[in-house]
Amino acid sequence: MLFKKDLNRKMPISSIGIVGAGIVGLSTAMHIQRELPRVPVTIYADKFDRATTSFGAGGLFRPNVDYCKGVDPETVTRWSKDAFEFFSSLATSPKASDTGHMITPGYVFSNTPIENPLYKGLVFSFRDLTSAELQKLGVDYKYGYQVTTVVTYVPKYLPWLMAKFQEQGGLVVNRTVNSLEEFVGVHSVVVNCSGFRSRDLVGDKTVYPVRGHLVRVKAPWIKYWVYTEDSAYFIPGFDEVSLGGIRQKDNYSLDINPKDSEGIKERCYKLWPSLKNAPVIGEWVDLRPHRDPVRIEYETMKFDKGPLKVVHNYGHGANGITLSWGTSRDAATLVSKAIMEPQARL
Ligand SMILES: Cc1cc2nc3c(=O)[nH]c(=O)nc-3n(C[C@H](O)[C@H](O)[C@H](O)COP(=O)(O)OP(=O)(O)OC[C@H]3O[C@@H](n4cnc5c(N)ncnc54)[C@H](O)[C@@H]3O)c2cc1C
Repeated sequence: MLFKKDLNRKMPISSIGIVGAGIVGLSTAMHIQRELPRVPVTIYADKFDRATTSFGAGGLFRPNVDYCKGVDPETVTRWSKDAFEFFSSLATSPKASDTGHMITPGYVFSNTPIENPLYKGLVFSFRDLTSAELQKLGVDYKYGYQVTTVVTYVPKYLPWLMAKFQEQGGLVVNRTVNSLEEFVGVHSVVVNCSGFRSRDLVGDKTVYPVRGHLVRVKAPWIKYWVYTEDSAYFIPGFDEVSLGGIRQKDNYSLDINPKDSEGIKERCYKLWPSLKNAPVIGEWVDLRPHRDPVRIEYETMKFDKGPLKVVHNYGHGANGITLSWGTSRDAATLVSKAIMEPQARL
């Protein structure tokens, strides 16, 4: 039997390449470094930190089986549990101010009953709200629950992941990858964490954009988040509160549309009047990389230059922050499997 330790010793010429330095690429890199500590890992990306989709996300940990079409509920639960354990361990540790993990209470409101939410068994606390409590909060919804979960402040978490990766010997190359064929004969295994751009990089046209838009306001009196079923929500970060949102399928525009801004503000002010006087300090638009199902898969790709072992980890849609830690662990397991297999001759 070949143990990981032996694997690392016996395969000194192995190396792994990762395309992507968003939350998925960096989380995958961390798991690979844990599983295969002696195998060199290089991240290739042309966007880092604030230029990634990950950077601007609200960061709310909100697991939901319905958001992961095509993945069996047990797997979504396992990914979510894995992520919550990790994020909550950071949030309750002295590292929290560096990693950006905040234990944050909040409310979900809805006009349809919320059956068995995945939140229930996972987070710090969960309970249904009574109609009297909904009334006291002044909201016009029939159902609601109060949840204490973790918010990941991604502008802190991404640099922390990157620093960890580099401290552990990881290399970073700033360049655009035009084809994975560039890695044939260079890396033993390549992990594709290119998010939305997998459409072009591996020609996967089942990845589609769901355009999002957040309005950032200065509202230090807001210490909780609120999520509703009809596209009005807000999530506090370290220094600002993000108001959302929109979900525009197949819209590729990265421009700020003033009509969307007004709609978001109007819905949020109606939901939560205390936001009304909060000064707007910024706005952000990006594309959620949707795919049904999210792709966590190992394949040998064939190119003119030869075969290449590729593990895919992309298409996290509206759940990239929530699912990143769990899907990346599975991707790293596939990398360990791939690296042990002899290279196919095609
Ligand atoms: C408005 C909005 C709000 C959101 N809120 C939440 C939330 O509250 N909770 C939650 O869980 N999720 C949320 N999300 C979803 C989350 O942001 C995404 O699912 C996640 O960021 C996807 O991460 P990623 O690493 O796959 O992609 P990205 O962050 O886009 O990273 C992709 C990386 O791949 C690199 N890359 C791609 N192609 C190439 C190439 N050809 N050559 C070189 N480099 C390449 C890029 O340079 C980049 O480094 C939100 C998204 C939006 C838009």
